Amino acid sequence: IGCLYVVATPIGNLEDITHRALNVLREVDLIAAEDTRHTSKLLQHFAISTPLKPCHDHNEREQQGYLINLLLSGKNIALVSDAGTPLISDPGFHLVKEAQLKHIKVVPVPGACAVITALSAAGLPSDRFSFEGFLPAKSVARKNTLESLKQEQRTLIFYEAPHRLLESLQDLSAIFGSDRVAVLARELTKTFETIKQCSLAELVNWVASDANQQRGECVLLISPWKAPEEESFNQESLRVLKVLLNELP
Ligand code: SAM
Repeated sequence: IGCLYVVATPIGNLEDITHRALNVLREVDLIAAEDTRHTSKLLQHFAISTPLKPCHDHNEREQQGYLINLLLSGKNIALVSDAGTPLISDPGFHLVKEAQLKHIKVVPVPGACAVITALSAAGLPSDRFSFEGFLPAKSVARKNTLESLKQEQRTLIFYEAPHRLLESLQDLSAIFGSDRVAVLARELTKTFETIKQCSLAELVNWVASDANQQRGECVLLISPWKAPEEESFNQESLRVLKVLLNELP
C-alpha cells in the first residue's frame, strides 16, 4: 500500500519550499495537483520530472477513486495545491478523508501557509485565533457572517480576493466598529510584501486611496473583541448609587 503525502509549496517566494518537500516531489510516483500548469512551472524550476495529474475542486471526487486505487496498488502520491498548504482553502479534503478511511498512510509535509505567515508577523494576539477562510462573496451573506463574529474574543483571520477587499473592509468597519484594530497582510513573501496595522477606518481610507493595495493576494486579521471596561461600568454604577443615596430619607 502506498503513501499519500500532503505537500506544502511556496506562497510566493520559491525559496520557501523545504528540502523534504523537494525530495518527496522527486521520489513519488505521481503528483496530484490543483492546476497542473501551475505546478509544472514549480517542478521545472527545481528540475523535477515526476508525472502530474489534475485534482481540483471540480474533479476531486471523480479523481479520488482513481488516486485511491493507485495508492492501494502500492504507488506513492504527493498532493499539492497552487500555493501553500493543500486543504487550507484549497482542494484535498475528500481525498485525505477517503485515504484515512481506507487506512492509507497520510503524511503531511509542512511548509508555507498564508494564514500562519500573516499571523506570525501581524502583531495581534496569536495565542488563540480563528481562521475563517474566505468571507461570502455576496453582501447580505457577508454581513450576516460578520454579525455572528463581531464579539469573537480570538484574533480573526480571513482570506480575501483583491477585488473584494475594499467592500469587505467597509463591511468590517461598519459591523465591528471603525476603531477596531486590523492588519492587512498583502503579497506575503513577495516583492511588494506589505503588513499594515491600523484601525479599520484608517485601513478603509488607505486601501480606497491607493489602487496598489487592491492588487495581489491578501490576508485580513482583526483584533479580538474586548468587553467594555469593567472600571467604567463601576464608575457609572457608583454615580447612580450616589444619586440614589441622596434621595434616601
Ligand atoms: N492553501 C493556501 C495557504 O496555505 O495559504 C491558501 C489558498 S487560497 C485559494 C488563496 C488565498 O490565500 C488568497 O486569496 C489570499 O487570501 C491567501 N494568500 C495566498 N498567498 C498569499 C500571499 N503570498 N500573501 C497574502 N495572502 C496570500
